Amino acid sequence: MKTGYNIAIDGPAGAGKSTIAKKIAKKMNFIYVDTGAMYRAMALYLLKREIDPADTNRIAKVCGEADISIEYRDGEQVVLLNGENVNACLRTEEVGSMASYSSAVPAVREKLVELQQRLAAKADVVMDGRDIGTVVLPDADVKVYLTASSAARAKRRYLELLEKGEKAELPQIEQDIIDRDYRDMHREHSPLRQAEDAVLVDSSDMTIDEVVERILSLCR
Ligand code: C5P
Repeated sequence: MKTGYNIAIDGPAGAGKSTIAKKIAKKMNFIYVDTGAMYRAMALYLLKREIDPADTNRIAKVCGEADISIEYRDGEQVVLLNGENVNACLRTEEVGSMASYSSAVPAVREKLVELQQRLAAKADVVMDGRDIGTVVLPDADVKVYLTASSAARAKRRYLELLEKGEKAELPQIEQDIIDRDYRDMHREHSPLRQAEDAVLVDSSDMTIDEVVERILSLCR
């Protein structure tokens, strides 16, 4: 059933996956699929419903009511939650943290993995997430595990927040990153791990362009 060319990029929070994946998609004229945004949209729905992140039974029940779909407008991925564009609400720490709990619930994963596989079956895609090379696209043409030290990732996030004029504490950001990695790597279903046939790229001391070039060379 696989027809398009698929590039899978997995790795922990803040490794630069989405920045890199977007650039590669542009260079190769592929579609960029941000799977984290789908888990975040689900988390947003659960937050709106005031559901406890620890109540996995309730999450499993309620996730069926969230209609999540993807559209592309001017080349940008737009996530629709029950018909509404929620892109502007997804990138907060609150939503990211809820997503790392709700994404551990099998019913949530089943629903979103199916959507991701449907997208990849009909187009050339660069898809980033946590389980793309291991579960979603096990036959991907190129698989990358993109990581960086937690200190390097925290520093990038810190500078990003300062640039936006937001208040930020570096030690707190690093601790949040470490906690989120722990949850993503130790969950029972589809934990974050490097696929056996994925190439490890550590971006701690690399520029964005160097990482992009490294991945493009793998595609060649
Ligand atoms: O990548 P991003 O930070 O947007 O992802 C938010 C959360 O969604 C992650 O911490 C992870 O728990 C979950 N996620 C996942 N599988 C994916 C993508 C994201 O479990 N493929």
